[in-house]
Amino acid sequence: MKRVVIIKYGELSTKSDNINFFLKTLKNNIDKKLEGLSYEIRYDHGRMIIFTEEVEKIKNKLQEVFGIHEICDGYLYEDRSLESIKENVLSLLNNEPFSSFKITVKRSDKSYPGTSISLASDIGAYILKNIPNITVDVNNPDVNVIVEIRLNEVLIYAGGIPGLGGYPVSTLGKGLLMLSGGIDSPVAGYLAIKRGVKIEAVYFDSPPHTSPMALKKVEDLARVLAKYNSGEVKIHVINFTKIQEEIIKNIPKYYLITMMRRMMYKISALICGSINAHAIINGESIGQVASQTLKSMQVINEAIKMPVLRPVCTYDKLEIIELSKKIGTYDISIRPYEDCCTIFVPDHPVIHPDINLAHEYETLVDFDTLVYEAIKNQNILHIKDTEENNFRDLL
Ligand code: ATP
Ligand code: MG
Repeated sequence: MKRVVIIKYGELSTKSDNINFFLKTLKNNIDKKLEGLSYEIRYDHGRMIIFTEEVEKIKNKLQEVFGIHEICDGYLYEDRSLESIKENVLSLLNNEPFSSFKITVKRSDKSYPGTSISLASDIGAYILKNIPNITVDVNNPDVNVIVEIRLNEVLIYAGGIPGLGGYPVSTLGKGLLMLSGGIDSPVAGYLAIKRGVKIEAVYFDSPPHTSPMALKKVEDLARVLAKYNSGEVKIHVINFTKIQEEIIKNIPKYYLITMMRRMMYKISALICGSINAHAIINGESIGQVASQTLKSMQVINEAIKMPVLRPVCTYDKLEIIELSKKIGTYDISIRPYEDCCTIFVPDHPVIHPDINLAHEYETLVDFDTLVYEAIKNQNILHIKDTEENNFRDLL
């Protein structure tokens, strides 16, 4: 008898043209996630079977891997006799409390005597005889036991736990997440990773106006995202102080946020070019603040040609908060340290900015030089999903 974990792909299995690429990437991502554990993976008719004795640890880790629809654990037996199948199903069911059950038999070895239905009812009758106070419920059972009779073995497992869904990370290219210390951007990053996009992050830092604790907060958020992003998130830390100070000195106050965000976009697009990323991702949500009216977004977006993905743009704040709690970023996001946007917000920012004015104001400062300097002096932090593996790397 062998202990196994079964991985079902769900949506992934519809990608018939490049299924092998998706599966290879999923397997790589699983291997990275399970580093240090002892297991072996076998591809098996539209799913993977992992042979392991460390079932619980592996099930927990697999719940952080995108591209998995369902995770089941079960047993593989060499003895295919009906007597031992009955005994094995009974011992599996003896392990858990339930009041109704169903047996589903699948015969991939069609020469095995009996039909799937007759075998299921044989096994079911045996279970009813041996466990008191239970019933069969074929529509909505507490436990559904699957018995797969294969050529040389029998696979027996009961209902699984849901995986994260989505696509394996890296199957759909790379994106650059504008990661602030707020609640929205980590959630936006998570949702992009879910669709198979591998992310790097950019953080605009404004020392001494922002404290080092604000950067630490962003690092901690990146560490949570790293869990889902194949174990690592690179953060491009941009010193934004000079650009902000020049904007404040030279540009009318009510256009401050518009201009600041145009510069953030420009820098982000240039970083995308240097890391071969194809889109910017951010946590903008329609109507949340003045810079997130549709008109504002249009004027800010006009600064660049790179596509900008806004995964939470239609979410209510409460929906974003709920997701941030689920993925584990909320408690970090609500730490009190301010980031560069919040400290420079004017009382009455423009909510319907004019593109011509934005262009005119852009001529008041030598932004090209400032943007070039900011990118040249960036720091890249490699944030791993485990604290002890972190190291800093100066460009
Ligand atoms: P909150 O969750 O409080 O709304 P926020 O980080 O979303 O915080 P916003 O002012 O709404 O703050 O900014 C919109 C988006 O712009 C953010 O979701 C983030 O993607 C990006 N952004 C803002 N400030 C920064 C920053 N300092 N560095 C990187 N990206 C930033
Ligand atoms: Mg926001």
